[in-house]
Amino acid sequence: MFMESSWSTSRGTNLLKDNRTPLRRAGWAALFYLIIGLIWIVFSDSAAEGWFPDPHTFSVVQTWKGFLFVFTTALVLFAVLLRQLTNDRALLTLQHSQRQALRKRERQLQVLMDNLPGMAYRCCFDSHWTMLFVSRGCVRLTGYEPEDLINNRVTSYANLTDSEDSERMHREVRQAVASDQSFSLEYGLTRRDGSRIWVWERGRGVEEDGVVFLEGIILDISNRKALESELEEMATRDPLTGLYNRREMSKVLEEELERTRRYQRSMAVLWIDFDHFKDVNDTFGHAAGDSVLRSVSRLLLGSVRSVDSIGRFGGEEFVIVLPEMGLAEAQDTAERLRQKVAEKRQPLGNDQTVPLTISVGVAVYPDHGQTVSTLCAAADNAMYLAKDRGRNCVALAHLHDPVHNE
Ligand code: GH3
Ligand code: MG
Ligand code: MG
Repeated sequence: MFMESSWSTSRGTNLLKDNRTPLRRAGWAALFYLIIGLIWIVFSDSAAEGWFPDPHTFSVVQTWKGFLFVFTTALVLFAVLLRQLTNDRALLTLQHSQRQALRKRERQLQVLMDNLPGMAYRCCFDSHWTMLFVSRGCVRLTGYEPEDLINNRVTSYANLTDSEDSERMHREVRQAVASDQSFSLEYGLTRRDGSRIWVWERGRGVEEDGVVFLEGIILDISNRKALESELEEMATRDPLTGLYNRREMSKVLEEELERTRRYQRSMAVLWIDFDHFKDVNDTFGHAAGDSVLRSVSRLLLGSVRSVDSIGRFGGEEFVIVLPEMGLAEAQDTAERLRQKVAEKRQPLGNDQTVPLTISVGVAVYPDHGQTVSTLCAAADNAMYLAKDRGRNCVALAHLHDPVHNE
């Protein structure tokens, strides 16, 4: 089947390449026929005259000669027509099967395009990303019909992307086109209804008559992005309170201390521990204790500046970083937080409330420690000092404590 069709195709191509035009070929055939006919008439007549001198016999021979000529001509005509019509039929069959194969390919391509989990496109490499073709997936992805985007009829694709991404996108595409490589982009897209999605695009530059076009696909990756940020959230946040977890808080402490050192400022660390929290758990249950943990976390978060960071270091221990804050101001802040917690009864999650107090240790860079670990140790020790002093109070770290400043 394949052999036959490839043979027919090459034959068809050879026929097309044949530079003898149909007119010339037909002319040559007619000339050949004319010459053969003339030769036949001239030579057969004189041969018949020689062989059959009797006029009656000669006349019969002439008649039979005419029959023979007509018969031979009909035979040749039949053979030529048969050959030509067979060829025509083969060519028609070939054209028909090629058209069918083409339609099948187009249908397959259409199904593929329509079922892509995004949209396929062909666009100009210009500042509008002027679309020349977009698949049906465009409706699901952007909310626009393909004809709305084609030739920027209703809006340009560039209008859907964030302007701050524009330069990066153009730069990356330009680099890929220059090195004849595919490009991959991730960026935010605003849909027709104003909703925002994340998309991933992979495409390639295609040069046609010296003009570069871009062809590729664009997929909605909002779910993946949401999962990524959820994972990031899980990796950095404490699930119970939503505050930074110990690992993230350690990172924040390092970064803040680095910045403080660079700009030669001060920075305070508050170390907070709930007083007799075990009693809350023992009396009201672990779930009630969790409710208190959440409530106090919210209270602390709402009582610090936006530049301050707060994390749950473990159990019911919280650490607050107060950038650009000196000793006196840090002590005031700690006192304010202690009072706020003490003044408000904490909900247990069952319409009941419980009074709770906190003990706070205060340490300040550079006075009480010059590294994260020494500063935290100083604040932690100060918190234990507050416990020793009867709890529900604020204690400062010791100045020039050799243990803290080693
Ligand atoms: P102190 O005043 O000496 O700090 O007394 P305390 O009872 O608070 O003692 P400590 O700080 O050692 O006890 C911490 C308690 O916090 C122990 C545990 O029952 C409770 N706790 C730790 N993590 C959680 C938690 O995630 N949920 C609840 N409900 N309780 C927790
Ligand atoms: Mg405690
Ligand atoms: Mg504790």
